[in-house]
Amino acid sequence: MHQLTLAEIARGLADKKFSSEELTKALLARIAQLDPQLNSFISLTEDLALTQAKAADARRANGESGALLGAPIAHKDLFCTQGIRTSCGSKMLDNFKAPYDATVVAKLAAAGAVTLGKTNMDEFAMGSANESSYYGAVKNPWNLEHVPGGSSGGSAAAVAARLLPAATGTDTGGSIRQPAALTNLTGLKPTYGRVSRWGMIAYASSLDQGGPLARTAEDCAILLQGMAGFDPNDSTSIDEPVPDYSASLNGSLQGLRIGVPKEYFGAGLDPRIAELIHNSVKELEKLGAVVKEISLPNMQHAIPAYYVIAPAEASSNLSRFDGVRFGHRCENPVNLIDLYKRSRGEGFGAEVQRRIMVGAYALSAGYYDAYYLKAQKIRRLIKNDFMAAFNEVDIILGPTTPNPAWKLGAKNSDPVAAYLEDVYTITANLAGLPGLSMPAGFVDGLPVGVQLLAPYFQEGRLLNVAHQYQLNTDWHTRTPTGF
Ligand code: GLN
Repeated sequence: MHQLTLAEIARGLADKKFSSEELTKALLARIAQLDPQLNSFISLTEDLALTQAKAADARRANGESGALLGAPIAHKDLFCTQGIRTSCGSKMLDNFKAPYDATVVAKLAAAGAVTLGKTNMDEFAMGSANESSYYGAVKNPWNLEHVPGGSSGGSAAAVAARLLPAATGTDTGGSIRQPAALTNLTGLKPTYGRVSRWGMIAYASSLDQGGPLARTAEDCAILLQGMAGFDPNDSTSIDEPVPDYSASLNGSLQGLRIGVPKEYFGAGLDPRIAELIHNSVKELEKLGAVVKEISLPNMQHAIPAYYVIAPAEASSNLSRFDGVRFGHRCENPVNLIDLYKRSRGEGFGAEVQRRIMVGAYALSAGYYDAYYLKAQKIRRLIKNDFMAAFNEVDIILGPTTPNPAWKLGAKNSDPVAAYLEDVYTITANLAGLPGLSMPAGFVDGLPVGVQLLAPYFQEGRLLNVAHQYQLNTDWHTRTPTGF
């Protein structure tokens, strides 16, 4: 049963081949058996899962249907779950039980999804390797000595290892697409504002966006359908109707204009990845797409701009963790300053502290204009580049990451080396555009992803292209040995 996709599970449940309760029990047993190798979960929610599964079975018996009714999923551990630990991968929130459900959690539960647990992640979603978690690194099921990517690495490793069919993630600078690429999954970062951020613990509020991680585009469509939509509790949520994403999968690609930015193929890209990306372009041409070289001239400025803006917002967002209201509190503080200093010093890990310091510096009087304001100007130039490109093409295609998954620990002594891995993903966050990564082949037995970007609210177009590609290729069906 663990090989089934969400779409196959929906059919199996509708045809009464198995119940949600049976499926849930089987997957929980599989997680207990295999997750010790991966460390992909921070918390398991067996009791909740079985209650939700039985309720879903009862709803089906009463004639209800729905693609998510009885479908097992997991949430990245930064989505608040009422009464359940929501750690954000941090010692700071190790003892935090959220008092309410995030909108995404509530919507998926209402659609009948079954929550198996909360997945491991980089601390406060800062990272590209899932090594900064207080709960330990996550391993890549394709090679247990390699990282799964981050920060949604737990969700990615669990889905890639067939512990469950799909999971939620969040993407501030690539944290859905990059781990999807490194573990052979399909992952989608929606348009900023498409999915509510209410109850999603904030990293960088103008960049964060929740989305699905699954094996296929078809499954991403199902999960996104359950997540997307206007939420009055999130002031940046957009009041636009949500299209039927599954209905958009089957459109023809005849005449689709694909733009391939020349800047994507410069130094730093593994040539073996470049070759696989060119192969995926040829595959799409066979399906009727027309390919054109385009230019995104400001791309080279994206990493420096992002690594000013994201830490600046993080330094502000993380000021709420002060040892007073919730989260970690130091022992026996002697006064208020001591309480703040030691609670934060003990509660936050090294990477989070580094970002807070960089962000506070960039926002400080005297440096604000030189760093933060400059970064915001670059952000606008990057957005303008995309707007110009989308006048000429329907979709932009390129690599998701410059390298395949690296060895655990390989970039620990050099944070900038890890930041450079985000070069292809962060521009979509800076511009607020939707992006998808899908499997495109292997290098040394490790998966490689191809990234597709589309204009605002064109998630359906991304899913359409990815689904058509997946009907004609089998990379996404490959299973890691041992799982
Ligand atoms: N790797 C990027 C960072 O560390 C992106 C993380 C994310 O998307 N949450 O900021």
